[in-house]
Amino acid sequence: LVKAALILGTQQFDAHPAFDDDDIDVFFFVESPAVFERRPHHAHKMVLILSAMRHTAAALEATGRRVERMPLAEGRGFADGVRQLVRTHGIDGLAWMSATDRGVDARLRRLCEEEGLRSRVYPDALFLTPAAELDDWFAGHPSARMEDFYRWQRRRTGVLMDGAKPAAGRWNFDADNREPLPKGGIDIPPLPPLEHDDITREVISEIAERFPDHPGDPARFWLPVTPDEARGWLADFVARRLAQFGPYEDAMAADEPFLFHSILSPALNIGLLTVDEVIEAATDAEGVPLNSLEGFVRQVIGWREYMRGAYRAWPHLRDANHFALRRELDSWWYDGVGIPEDLPVPVRTVLERVLATGYAHHIERLMVLGNWFLLQGYAPRAVFEWFSALFVDAYEWVMVPNVQGMSQYADGGGVATKPYISGGAYLQRMGSWWPTQKAARESTFTTAYWDFLEAHEERLRENHRMAVPLAQMRKRHGE
Ligand code: FAD
Repeated sequence: LVKAALILGTQQFDAHPAFDDDDIDVFFFVESPAVFERRPHHAHKMVLILSAMRHTAAALEATGRRVERMPLAEGRGFADGVRQLVRTHGIDGLAWMSATDRGVDARLRRLCEEEGLRSRVYPDALFLTPAAELDDWFAGHPSARMEDFYRWQRRRTGVLMDGAKPAAGRWNFDADNREPLPKGGIDIPPLPPLEHDDITREVISEIAERFPDHPGDPARFWLPVTPDEARGWLADFVARRLAQFGPYEDAMAADEPFLFHSILSPALNIGLLTVDEVIEAATDAEGVPLNSLEGFVRQVIGWREYMRGAYRAWPHLRDANHFALRRELDSWWYDGVGIPEDLPVPVRTVLERVLATGYAHHIERLMVLGNWFLLQGYAPRAVFEWFSALFVDAYEWVMVPNVQGMSQYADGGGVATKPYISGGAYLQRMGSWWPTQKAARESTFTTAYWDFLEAHEERLRENHRMAVPLAQMRKRHGE
């Protein structure tokens, strides 16, 4: 019997369970261009995944293990590539780690049946919560609020707990975590520089050649591609930025793309880091104020795991469209050519940043991009496609609940308790995008906000948390 383990692109763990499985004879890596061709994926995301895969393969080979690859240049689809490897190498058993995105496991199981292979599936290690426990929690909590989930998660894991009580007696420091950057300026430590090695350089030139029309310049690729590099970024974040993560987590600045964010999602979402090690590094750090530590822990063991649960529990989210919005995105959203002159300054700034790096931090995704998409009446599915293509950390499990749910309110309030919309005043308070407060109040962003409230008043009235903004809107209109 010859058994192979298939290492999926999003599972680049250096402690993948297959590596300790004595009866695995060979490791398969399938690089499928079809996955990248499905939409115009950002060059940096493609470089990230391919370079990480090739580094894992090289590390395995260096320890004397047998690796067989289906290279990008072969041009095969994913299942076709797996099948080809299975047949060429006379495999009779296939092992893989359960994939987070729906459909992949089923496809591989089908392939095993068709090829007469025995199969073995390891549990998904991208998360802290076992899938069955997560599903049980969602099944037992029909309204499934993130705050309840998070408390359950803290109790379950014992992270930041004092026995049965939360550390320092509080679950939540959100009220302390809403500061704009100080007026006098603040020192923001730059991200640690990384160098491209031979493997990454080769991937960059392949991507440049094969996908010349995709957004992003592959030569400017900037992310960790191995567990060691990712751990270096984690250590640097914990030492230099975590302490200020909390207060400035919602802050924005036109000339500062990263602020005090961790930029760990690209690594976490492909297994270069595990949630465990991220939490351990953060909670072991000395001198980190609790509001920052708790704020960060909430994102990683709260929001991130909750979003996976929502994706699994609420399949209808994918096609939800509460406000029945239909507008499609123009091509400049993808290629930056001909961005309209009158696009509000925060949207233009963040868009240009995303086109260059494939990254924007959370509050920019939510309150600049997502907010603008919703106010402008773009179809949630079109918005989902855009985020999925452009972001270096985007996968279906995280995009569906974040885009359709949290940011576009397409489910009518399951993930978010109210639509995340605002006019220019909020953006100005948190990011000083316009020269004056008056300019923010008079901006097209603000006009779009009031217009949206008016156009969707009937639906919005169903949510009691919208009562105040709707009353303001009516007052403005002299009613
Ligand atoms: P930090 O601010 O440093 O946060 C730490 C970690 O917490 C992140 O690395 C991430 O793993 C986790 N996290 C925080 N919030 C969320 C959340 N809402 N959902 C899942 N994980 C979270 N996250 C993705 O990983 N991939 C995406 O494609 C993605 N798309 C988004 C689209 C929209 C419209 C919105 C509103 C949010 C999206 N998020 C996505 C969630 C969040 O914005 C990113 O995880 C975060 O900005 C990543 O940057 P960071 O690592 O610097 O995060």
